[in-house]
Amino acid sequence: MILSDLNYDELKTLFLQAGYQPFRAEQVYRWLLDGKDFFQMSNLPLQFRESLAKEHIACPVKIEEILKSKDGSEKYLYGLSDGNIIEGVFMPHDYGDTLCVSTQVGCRMGCEFCASGIGGLVRNLTSGEILGQVIAVNALRGGNMKDRKISNIVLMGSGEPLDNFDNVVRFVKNVSDSRGLNIGRRSISLSTCGLTDKMRELADLNLGVTLSVSLHATLDEYRQRLMPIAKKYSVSQVIDAARYYFEKTGRRVVFEYSMVKGVNMNYADARRLSEYLAGMSAHVNLIMLNKVDGKNIDGCSKLEGERFCAKLNALGVSATVRRSMGSDIEGACGQLRRRRLT
Ligand code: SAH
Repeated sequence: MILSDLNYDELKTLFLQAGYQPFRAEQVYRWLLDGKDFFQMSNLPLQFRESLAKEHIACPVKIEEILKSKDGSEKYLYGLSDGNIIEGVFMPHDYGDTLCVSTQVGCRMGCEFCASGIGGLVRNLTSGEILGQVIAVNALRGGNMKDRKISNIVLMGSGEPLDNFDNVVRFVKNVSDSRGLNIGRRSISLSTCGLTDKMRELADLNLGVTLSVSLHATLDEYRQRLMPIAKKYSVSQVIDAARYYFEKTGRRVVFEYSMVKGVNMNYADARRLSEYLAGMSAHVNLIMLNKVDGKNIDGCSKLEGERFCAKLNALGVSATVRRSMGSDIEGACGQLRRRRLT
């Protein structure tokens, strides 16, 4: 059993069934979230630690490589217990230190500009493997369960979170558990390529997380060129589902928009965006594309990005150009893992 997959109550039940004393569950839960392995759980009898280690895995995520950027962000390559590798990014922000986590090994969405989907989907991560990324980086940065070094989480690493719905929801519940890491739901953002049924399902759960939608184009024709999933769900269906999320939860929806030169950033795009988002509390996050090896697609200059942003602002759309971090350490989705695999 992977213990980080369990919530506090499930861990208690497991220990009870195994005949262990209930207070042991409390001790192990704490050590687990502090990022310690069984042999480091120093207030447990040695024999107990040995029997736990024989039957269970504490945290299935180990940091294998760290790349530090000049801008303070860090990129991690993590090893999983089955030998698969995933990656993540730590970003210091003035509103709080943020960790970007992966939700799948690989991805089956196949977006044109993204490195994560190049080899397709390998498998879903369990909730404990998503939580394990937070535990590992928190511990690496000198934090523990009570003294957290990460205050914000973005589900924007490799994978499509809503394609791994149940494990992702479980992760959100566990990472925000007040008995555990207690990371506020409002400090968690989930980014989706626009799986509309699942967006609605998420809205109905009303977890309190921020929804980010990777829109990237205002016309179906162009969106389909960038994102195969757009053949299944039209731009207007995606906008409708985002509006549903806003109406159900009252939460402002963020739209991610990667600027591609000559494709999605002229005046008509700005105008269409302003029409789509009218009456909804929304923010457009304009992204400077990170060039991925082997992908024949070009971003724009900073100035062109700012001009497009100004067009949106003039039309009354709340929009900013996202500060790009980690471009010197292959910060974009899946880039580091690709390098390791090729
Ligand atoms: N699957 C989810 C979350 C992962 S990607 C989604 O599609 O939203 C997080 C964001 O980074 C998405 O907006 C994605 O389109 C964007 N992205 C992926 N590769 C990129 C690249 N090379 N440059 C800039 N943004 C990229």
